[in-house]
Amino acid sequence: MKTSSHRLHPTTLCIHAGTRLDPATGGACSPIYTSTAYAFPNPANANIYPRYFNTPNQQVINRKLAALEQGEEALVFGSGMAAIATLLFSQLKTGDHALFQSDLYGGTHQLVTKELPRHGIEVSFCRATMEYPAALRPNTRLIYVESPSNPLLRCVDLAALAQLGRERGILTVVDNTFATPINQNPIALGFDAVIHSATKYLNGHSDVNAGVVISSAAIIRRLTDSATLYGGMLDAHACYQLERGLKTLALRVRQHNENAEHLARFFQSHPAVARVNYPGLPNHPDHAIAARQMRGFGGMLSFELKDPTGLDCLLSRLRLVMPALSLGGVESLICIPSRTSHRLMTPDERQHAGINDGLVRVSVGIEDAEDLLQDFSEAMSEL
Ligand SMILES: *Cc1c(COP(=O)(O)O)cnc(C)c1O
Repeated sequence: MKTSSHRLHPTTLCIHAGTRLDPATGGACSPIYTSTAYAFPNPANANIYPRYFNTPNQQVINRKLAALEQGEEALVFGSGMAAIATLLFSQLKTGDHALFQSDLYGGTHQLVTKELPRHGIEVSFCRATMEYPAALRPNTRLIYVESPSNPLLRCVDLAALAQLGRERGILTVVDNTFATPINQNPIALGFDAVIHSATKYLNGHSDVNAGVVISSAAIIRRLTDSATLYGGMLDAHACYQLERGLKTLALRVRQHNENAEHLARFFQSHPAVARVNYPGLPNHPDHAIAARQMRGFGGMLSFELKDPTGLDCLLSRLRLVMPALSLGGVESLICIPSRTSHRLMTPDERQHAGINDGLVRVSVGIEDAEDLLQDFSEAMSEL
C-alpha cells in the first residue's frame, strides 16, 4: 500500500492495510508463502525463520490488525487462547498480582484460575469499573477486561481503566473479540494492549482458529520473544484465509450490528421474554458507557425466557438459527450458557453471576434480518 498523509478509514484498511501484491505476477492478492526454510545468508530475508513468527503471511495479518486497532504493531497466533496465554506469561512473573474482570470468557477464566496460581502469580476479580481502584495491590502488574462481556454484554469504562493503569504504571489489556475493531478501538481510549480471538468476527466464516495481540512496538517485541519459545503460531494457509475474511470485516460488522438491533427490539417486545441484554438498548445497565466508547453495539445479545422449560421447544423449532457454541460467523448461532459455557458452575455460582437457566445467547449473523425475525417469531409462537 502506498502511503500518504490522508488517514484511511477502517473499511478501506480492512481491504488494503498490510496486503501484499504478488511481486511475481502483479496479482491483487497476497501470495501464500509456504516455505519453512529460506536461503541463508540472504540480506533480503535474514530474519525469516518461521518459528520466529515473521513469515510473510503472518506479517500481512499483523500489519492489517495494527492499522485497524490503531496500535504500533501486532502479532498473530494459532488461537485466541495462544494469544492470551502468551501475552499473560510474557508480562507476569512469580510474585506479581493481576486483576481480572469476573465474567471472563470460559477458557480465559480457566487459564487465570488454574495456570497463573501454579506459577505463583496472584489473581483477583472485579465486577464493575468502580471496584478496580480498591482492588489494586502494591504488586499489581496487569488489569485485564472484556467489553462487552459474555454472555450478559456488560461493558466496562475503558477510558477510566486506562487512566487508572497509566497513573499506577499497570499494563491494561482488553479482549476486544465481541466488539471488533470496527465498533471499538481500546488503544485509542488509552489501553496498552488489545487481544482478539480471530476465530470469531475477524475471520468471520467459522473456519479458522486464530488469535492476535495488538500493542506498542516494545510490548510486541517482548511478546514475540516469549511466543518464539512457546510456539502457537498460525500457518500460511490459515493466515491467507484470515486475510480474506478480514477484507469484508467492516461490511459484515455493519450488518451484524443492524441485525442484532432488530432482534434485540423484537425480543424486548416478546411476551415470553423476561429481559434482553444488548448494550444498544437504552435500558441496558451499561448503555451510557457503551454509547460513549463504541461506534456500533455488535452482533451479540442474550435474553431470558420467563419460563426456562420453553428452551427445548425454542431450540427444536428454529430452522435457520443453529444451536452451536462459538460466535462471530456469518451464520446466526444460539446457545444456552447454563448448559454449555457455564455448566461447570454450581447453580448458586450461576445465580451470583446472573446466568439463570432461561438465559439464551445469540450470535446474530448477517442473514436478512426479516428472515431471522421470522425464524424466531415462529419458534417462539407457543412459548
Ligand atoms: C473464543 C474466545 C476466546 C478464545 O479464542 P480461541 O480462538 O477459541 O482460542 C477468547 N476470548 C473470547 C471473548 C472468545 O469469544
